[in-house]
Amino acid sequence: MNHDEFADNHFIRTIIEDDLKSGKYPSIITRFPPEPNGYLHVGHAKSICLNFGLAYLYGGVCHLRFDDTNPEKESDEYVRSIKEDVQWLGFQWDGEARFASDYFEALYAYAEELIQKGLAYVDELTPEEMREYRGTLTEAGKNSPYRERGIEENLDLFRRMRAGEFPDGSKTLRLKIDMAAGNVNLRDPVIYRIRRVHHHRTGDAWCIYPMYDYTHALSDAIEHITHSLCTLEFEAHRPLYDWVIEHVSSPSEPHQFEFSRLELLYSITSKRKLNQLVQQGHVKGWDDPRMPTISGMRRRGYTPAGLRLFAKRAGISKSENIIDMDVLEGAVREDLEKTAPRMMAVLNPLKVEIVNFDAAKVQGKSVPFHPERPECGERELTLSDTIYIEADDFALEPPKGWKRLIVGGEVRLRYGYVMKCEEAVQDESGRILSLKCSIDYDTFGKNPEGRKVKGVIHWLPENTAVHATVRLYERLFTEERPDAVRGADGEYRDFVEFLNPHSETEIDAWVEPVANTLAAEARYQFERLGYFVTDRHDHTPEKPIFNRTVGLRDTWQK
Ligand code: ATP
Ligand code: MG
Repeated sequence: MNHDEFADNHFIRTIIEDDLKSGKYPSIITRFPPEPNGYLHVGHAKSICLNFGLAYLYGGVCHLRFDDTNPEKESDEYVRSIKEDVQWLGFQWDGEARFASDYFEALYAYAEELIQKGLAYVDELTPEEMREYRGTLTEAGKNSPYRERGIEENLDLFRRMRAGEFPDGSKTLRLKIDMAAGNVNLRDPVIYRIRRVHHHRTGDAWCIYPMYDYTHALSDAIEHITHSLCTLEFEAHRPLYDWVIEHVSSPSEPHQFEFSRLELLYSITSKRKLNQLVQQGHVKGWDDPRMPTISGMRRRGYTPAGLRLFAKRAGISKSENIIDMDVLEGAVREDLEKTAPRMMAVLNPLKVEIVNFDAAKVQGKSVPFHPERPECGERELTLSDTIYIEADDFALEPPKGWKRLIVGGEVRLRYGYVMKCEEAVQDESGRILSLKCSIDYDTFGKNPEGRKVKGVIHWLPENTAVHATVRLYERLFTEERPDAVRGADGEYRDFVEFLNPHSETEIDAWVEPVANTLAAEARYQFERLGYFVTDRHDHTPEKPIFNRTVGLRDTWQK
């Protein structure tokens, strides 16, 4: 990781630099505040790179804080996966991971403070009544009949709410702000509700839980966050954020800044919708390599540096941030190009018999696994009497401009000899069963005499090739914006209607023997085919399993 990765200019950087220059803060503290209600996705990767990246760039710190105020949906599994994803991306939070639930006692005390100041009251409107009283965007709301209770009565009721004297949903604690406010978020928002639900950390200690906006602002204040960065949908919540900080004896005065949410075409960036894919069995789990989750992209073979490069290219601004998949794949490819060792693999094999094979004459060659990285080592490639080539590299009736193999034509075997096809062996139906070819022994490491051979194809000697399972992935959805398609009735259609039925194919393939030595998550370029990674869970050296990460070129638009 280096500073350049995060040094692109954007409005948040400008704000931070001004704040540091003016001495408003001696150094910055940012936070990444996921709710542990699912696995992180590519949008979170952008937010992680922003928050941790800024802290890194300015020598500040970044907290990891779980906003765990909705116990029904939260779990330790999600906490564990989120920590793993942040670290895998290359970041480390300051100190221990923090939890909003660590502050429940403090948040409760601030609520009592607000009651004491006459700024919060216990309400008994039912949810339906509350909606009715709330008003609309164009109409002011009405005051609840419980709004003018005395401070003592409010305190007593709130304490009894905490003590469990009232049924779930029967009472709430609301801020006394302004039922006529143009911003509906300021119309006496609820800050506590009664819910008897087991919490993943506090267990059954609480039967009242604080609401998100209230909790978020005060958690930032308790942690002395300087710049609280979130996505634009929270812009209208900022006045409430500021109100809360202003009206309690807040330990600090954090400020919220909003940037636009990343959206990736042909994909989905919502934990709730991703959860639906998992729960309904459309994918094989949160980390299915087709998922836009960080763990899915990891299993697909994407690299931390590739994802950081993508986040940088997506950029930070307030304007729409809808990004093509080829930007993501391009960033990953760029990183893999520099780092991944190479081998030859044949995904759709055609057997070739070398009719003039002579073991005494054949020369082997030691070939580096990466042209610019000698530390990747070398291996010996030697021709055998039978080899595999890609079926696509041969054509009985070649299209115009064909540079690969035809009957009577020649190609060079990568790192080896020039080979001529003498005959295609076919069955009665005309299906090609195998080829008979000859090699020119005078072409090892040099051009053939008196003629040009343009095509170079990859191949594997049959005697050393090893079996591998290869999983090929295509886009998960057939629509650019699967969750924004409306039906004839004007309603949104269920995005699962647009799942691509061909998003995963599993094939048997041949690869080089090095596959039998690989650990999980080994990334290789299969020459001419793309980048592949050994599967994180299912691969073993004895039974290699590769996932296709991305092709060598951008084929997304085709
Ligand atoms: P989801 O709807 O997927 O649950 P969220 O915003 O509710 O997303 P949180 O767990 O609350 O998810 O998000 C943690 C942080 O990540 C927040 O600061 C949020 O603004 C940011 N974030 C979430 N989605 C995106 C996105 N698509 N692009 C950029 N930042 C995002
Ligand atoms: Mg959410």
